[in-house]
Amino acid sequence: MRLLLVEDDAMIGESVRTGLQQDGFAVDWVQDGRAAELALETNPYDMLLLDLGLPRKGGLEVLASLRRRGDSIPVLILTARDAVADRVKGLDAGADDYLVKPFDLEELAARVRALLRRRSGRADPVVQVGNLIINPATHEVSLDGKSIALSAREFAVIHALAARPGVVRSEEHTSELQSP
Ligand code: CA
Repeated sequence: MRLLLVEDDAMIGESVRTGLQQDGFAVDWVQDGRAAELALETNPYDMLLLDLGLPRKGGLEVLASLRRRGDSIPVLILTARDAVADRVKGLDAGADDYLVKPFDLEELAARVRALLRRRSGRADPVVQVGNLIINPATHEVSLDGKSIALSAREFAVIHALAARPGVVRSEEHTSELQSP
């Protein structure tokens, strides 16, 4: 999964990028609205993490023009603006979710996974080989029930190998349907 992070605050940008990379995501990081648009035009991304207060072009403008073009990429807004009016504007402009700074990196990673899951729905099959379970929607790999930390590259390799026809059986992802 490849994410585009748009954040002009160097400290926040660096910590978000590092945190998400440790969770196995490939993260490109740009620091203004125009650089974001250029990156979106030239690369395929699975999700956009978007600050609102940005140099050169504001996050809301970036989001609005993205949706005008019909791009349905999931967008998670990261902002210090916690006024209700700003949240409403962001959601009206086509954001999928909203996180107010300062936020916890664990919560951010969980919301990213939730948005990716929601987007891929249940059509994206979990791949199981013996006791190894690979979930392409959440980018999670577990062996004997224990989760394994992999880089994005390692994940891509193991997923490609495991998904070879005749080697695996696919199961519908049902864990979300199980209530306690
Ligand atoms: Ca900012």
